[in-house]
Amino acid sequence: MTRKEFIEKSLVMGIGLPFLSSALLQSCRKDDSIFPNFRTNFSGKVIIVGAGAAGLAAGYLLKRYGVDFEIIEASPVYGGRLKKSFDFADFPIDIGAEWIHTDPKILADIISNPNSNANIDIIVYNPQSIKSWKNGKLKSHNYISSFYSEWKFKNSTWFDFFAQFIVPEIADKIVLNKPITEINYQGDKVLLSTGNNETFEADKVLVTTPVKTLQNEQITFQPSLPTDKKEALEKIFMGDGIKIFIEFKEKFYPDILAFGNILQALNEEEKFVYDAAFRKDSSKHILGLFAINDKANAYTKLNSEQEMIDKFMAELDEMFDGKATANYVNHIIQNWSKEPYIQGAYSYSFEGNQERIVATINEPILNKVYFAGEALSIKNQAMVHGACESAYRMIATMMEDE
Ligand SMILES: Cc1cc2nc3c(=O)[nH]c(=O)nc-3n(C[C@H](O)[C@H](O)[C@H](O)COP(=O)(O)OP(=O)(O)OC[C@H]3O[C@@H](n4cnc5c(N)ncnc54)[C@H](O)[C@@H]3O)c2cc1C
Repeated sequence: MTRKEFIEKSLVMGIGLPFLSSALLQSCRKDDSIFPNFRTNFSGKVIIVGAGAAGLAAGYLLKRYGVDFEIIEASPVYGGRLKKSFDFADFPIDIGAEWIHTDPKILADIISNPNSNANIDIIVYNPQSIKSWKNGKLKSHNYISSFYSEWKFKNSTWFDFFAQFIVPEIADKIVLNKPITEINYQGDKVLLSTGNNETFEADKVLVTTPVKTLQNEQITFQPSLPTDKKEALEKIFMGDGIKIFIEFKEKFYPDILAFGNILQALNEEEKFVYDAAFRKDSSKHILGLFAINDKANAYTKLNSEQEMIDKFMAELDEMFDGKATANYVNHIIQNWSKEPYIQGAYSYSFEGNQERIVATINEPILNKVYFAGEALSIKNQAMVHGACESAYRMIATMMEDE
């Protein structure tokens, strides 16, 4: 069962939860592995553009098959929307992707190592105190805790998972600080260039940059992308994204708090406040804000981080009778909309048939240019394992094209 199917099932059952229930997940166990098996005669070189989850996973798979590759990343760090703060609290905080939105056995599957889970410390994330803020009132919905469950890393993060299991295999193939601005696939070889006129050459290229960067044409293609692909890209909506973490002296907030109608809010997953230290090894009180789309834009459109934190603190004070200001210690803000090579949260909705839109973008160009990333997974779109699944599928397609 996919997450989307689960949510639909939950809604039919009148539950309307964003997170997977452990009980219902038992029926997910038959899902096929995302780690592909293929045969290939390919002996050329692949360049992967972007070192986020998709790009790193693609490199890991190519390494396993002994294929020559390089990962070219624009920013000074790998990880993309996997990012952690290691010094804000007494545990590492995921300031990008945080939850494991499916059966955690996906972790062993991503690295195709069934024994690895023994080394991965995860927690069941099933918040016990659940509140909503609606029409100026806080309301409890603790009954939801019996249905509400997914997973998180305990003393680690999504970023650490990649750093520990994937990056060591491919570290020498990752080239940082090289924003690709042009991909020329006119000739036999694909030529990639940066704004500084550095060039890279490959037989095939896998582009894993966020959909927003493709819509904004941060990379130009020679010849330009086929019209149907450009139109399909425009049909994906990726909105703003922000996370704020605040340390407080006391925990005056519930494990999770949603805004408006609880079932609708949890289902839409556009904004919630939560105890980020829930079941972590921590003596700190760390509250998190997760917001995407317009709910994030209410903060990201402000001119400074001070205005953002002031706005959020005022909301918390209104909900909790001034306890936020009384207990404030420190904060960090991760504004994903301002990251030049990300520019938002993740793909959220599709204008038209998602499968058709994704299939159009996934169609290889001249067996030379391929696309992957979270937006291009049908079953696991917008999630880390979806980014990996998309990358694995496109690499298998690429290798089987030979
Ligand atoms: C706030 C937030 C919370 C989230 N929470 C969760 C969660 O709890 N669980 C979950 O599963 N998922 C979550 N996600 C989604 C998850 O982070 C993404 O689905 C996944 O990490 C995307 O991986 P990707 O490789 O497709 O893209 P990215 O991680 O964006 O990687 C793309 C890479 O391409 C690079 N790049 C861009 N342009 C260029 C260029 N011109 N040249 C070279 N490189 C370039 C970028 O710098 C980046 O490193 C969250 C995302 C956000 C923003």
